[in-house]
Amino acid sequence: MEFHPLNEKDIKQLKFMVSPDRLSTGESNLDLHSRDMSRHPACRPEVVIWPVNRREVSQILGYANQNTIPVTAWGAGTSLEGNAIPLRRGIVLNFSRMNQILDIREADFQADVEPGVIYQDLNHKLRHSGLFFPPDPGTQATVGGMIANNASGTRTVRYGSTKNHVLRLVVVLADGEVVEIGNRAPKTSSGYDLVHLFVGSEGMLGLVVEATVRLAGIAEEFASAVGTFPSVQSAGKAVFEIMRSGVDPAALELLAQECIDLINREQDMGLNVLPTLFMEFHGPIQRQLSDN
Ligand SMILES: Cc1cc2nc3c(=O)[nH]c(=O)nc-3n(C[C@H](O)[C@H](O)[C@H](O)COP(=O)(O)OP(=O)(O)OC[C@H]3O[C@@H](n4cnc5c(N)ncnc54)[C@H](O)[C@@H]3O)c2cc1C
Repeated sequence: MEFHPLNEKDIKQLKFMVSPDRLSTGESNLDLHSRDMSRHPACRPEVVIWPVNRREVSQILGYANQNTIPVTAWGAGTSLEGNAIPLRRGIVLNFSRMNQILDIREADFQADVEPGVIYQDLNHKLRHSGLFFPPDPGTQATVGGMIANNASGTRTVRYGSTKNHVLRLVVVLADGEVVEIGNRAPKTSSGYDLVHLFVGSEGMLGLVVEATVRLAGIAEEFASAVGTFPSVQSAGKAVFEIMRSGVDPAALELLAQECIDLINREQDMGLNVLPTLFMEFHGPIQRQLSDN
């Protein structure tokens, strides 16, 4: 598709849609949105816009669609894939100002959030409720970026990835239409599973403007263990044995000796430079370990 570079008329039209302090063509803002955390080459957008509600997102996408202007969504730019880089330039929509936690329904194990909520902020807010949002990529990622990337992390072994924690989405399609997909019922099997079509679609099918996420209970007890192995192969075999034994780890991370060496150099931790398995266990630990 032939994309159209933005001209003055486009910028003027976009300025009618959002307040002027939320649109920037400044060099430093364009630079900040030209690369994520990957090694892929940078590419600057032509304008960065910070929408604050779904109406603005819908208007901007509708206008961009009619005028063949490319749009790339931006959460926190922590992706390691290069998919937040606006390769065709055009508009970057930065969701950081759509960062409201709209509702927490503890008894339903659910929260409704805007896409720019940082998942650690959600967990901070939930800390006294005994609940948490389990996917944990270990960095300042937004829920919208996690949904688009189907983010996982060290705890995926027990809790699954982001796709296991999304029940409902409000999405703006490329032409500006706003659609609601999925629902808040924890168990439902009727109809097409459109939610899981959108989770992992990297902002290509539409932009998430609201999500209902599924929460989990914070375990009563936590324990951790570290094991070193003579080779990555023997560590891999140990992972298989751990999973088969039913011990049910909540987090597993295997680091090769090169990574351990790097950690020692950066953090001066004095770890043995060998393939190392870091493990975390949640729940009634005593029983879990003695039953196995
Ligand atoms: C140190 C480090 C460790 C990491 N570890 C992991 C890990 O263990 N597992 C893992 O999966 N990832 C990991 N990541 C990668 C990254 O943190 C995740 O992929 C995260 O989900 C990206 O979120 P973000 O908010 O930064 O999104 P961005 O990087 O801003 O965007 C990612 C994608 O989402 C799209 N997007 C953003 N917002 C929306 C929206 N509202 N609607 C539609 N599309 C949108 C963007 O266009 C882009 O395609 C790690 C990154 C770092 C830096």
